[in-house]
Amino acid sequence: MTTGTQYCGHPRSDDPAQPCKATSLPGGDRCLAHASDQVRDQFLAGLTPGG
Ligand SMILES: [Zn+2]
Repeated sequence: MTTGTQYCGHPRSDDPAQPCKATSLPGGDRCLAHASDQVRDQFLAGLTPGG
């Protein structure tokens, strides 16, 4: 079990040698840019309920 902020570890798109340091989305282990479509959709749906 981990608590607190988790960071996306996906290779950066502009520099694959470096890990992405963006904050992971809740419910996922990737940032918004690197999240799967499913996780991204869930996150965006939460931002805009009823959209
Ligand atoms: Zn990322």
